[in-house]
Amino acid sequence: MPPSMKRLAILTSGGDSPGMNAAIRSVVRTALGRGLEVLGIRNGYDGLIDGEISPMKSVDVGGIIGRGGTILRSGRSPRFMEPEGRAAAARTLKENAVEWLVVLGGDGSLTGAKLLHEEQGVAVIGLPGSIDNDIPCTDLSIGFDTAINTAVEAIDKIRDTAYSHDRVFVIEVMGRRNGFIALEAGLAGGAEAILIPELPFDLPGICDMLRAGVAKGKRSSIIVTAEGAATASSVQEFLQKETGYEVRCLVLGHMQRGGSPTALDRVLATRMGAEAVKVAMAGYDCHTIGLVGTKLVAEHLGVVLSTQRNVDPERLLLAEVMAL
Ligand code: ADP
Repeated sequence: MPPSMKRLAILTSGGDSPGMNAAIRSVVRTALGRGLEVLGIRNGYDGLIDGEISPMKSVDVGGIIGRGGTILRSGRSPRFMEPEGRAAAARTLKENAVEWLVVLGGDGSLTGAKLLHEEQGVAVIGLPGSIDNDIPCTDLSIGFDTAINTAVEAIDKIRDTAYSHDRVFVIEVMGRRNGFIALEAGLAGGAEAILIPELPFDLPGICDMLRAGVAKGKRSSIIVTAEGAATASSVQEFLQKETGYEVRCLVLGHMQRGGSPTALDRVLATRMGAEAVKVAMAGYDCHTIGLVGTKLVAEHLGVVLSTQRNVDPERLLLAEVMAL
């Protein structure tokens, strides 16, 4: 018996990010409010392939706006990388009479969504969920603001102890391929130097800067490094050897993924989730929602995935001036 109401399904995929729950809540409640049935898929693309799909009601998303992670759970699916896996995923959607699929995840997940559309004709709408903020065509991805605030909180705490003991600290933040978190958190935390994978850095120059700082009476220095630029321990070793100062290091790691989302991420996720439902019902079928300035835009996934998102080098220059 075909369902009388149109159906929309949602999944979260790839690395989780704070604010995903707020987005799920928004998609579910907006869709229900527009007279759709909503299905939740557990465990990302693997769950879609295996048919882990069930109806979601408004009450199922109650009380989750402030919770990190994703109630639908996320994950990586090597099977979905293959055309057979995507065909199986499309079968699940067909068997459940799903008209639209909302995919909340990073650039890998969105690449998979685009292929699902191209090969299987599934109407997909992407939502950018990534603490790295590396998804093109959106100023912000869901989770980035929370991640940088977590990093800044850590930098502030370390600054207190570094100041009390005349120490240099090297703090490693996430960012294997890019320095968005390092730049933003470093600037906000008043870091004396920021190392990012996109631009060359000068460790002997940083040693000179540290010596000059001590000569001026500076009590502490903090170097922020993106994991893809240099590990905290390698920077620590170099600086300590060259300057003779006591240098400590700290790797923030996965704590940057967790935690209660900031107000900014909650509002962003709520706005984007509602927009995803709206554009799906308006006939968009291979698009991602992005924030450009203050406005939400739906951009074709083909455009999003062939665009490069670059860091703003001005921010690095600004951080250098602030460290003088
Ligand atoms: P993120 O979405 O956070 O960037 P991944 O890159 O690990 O995380 O991607 C998550 C999942 O999306 C993968 O496990 C896979 O199932 C799917 N995916 C990623 N890249 C592709 C691709 N090129 N083709 C098909 N599916 C992909």
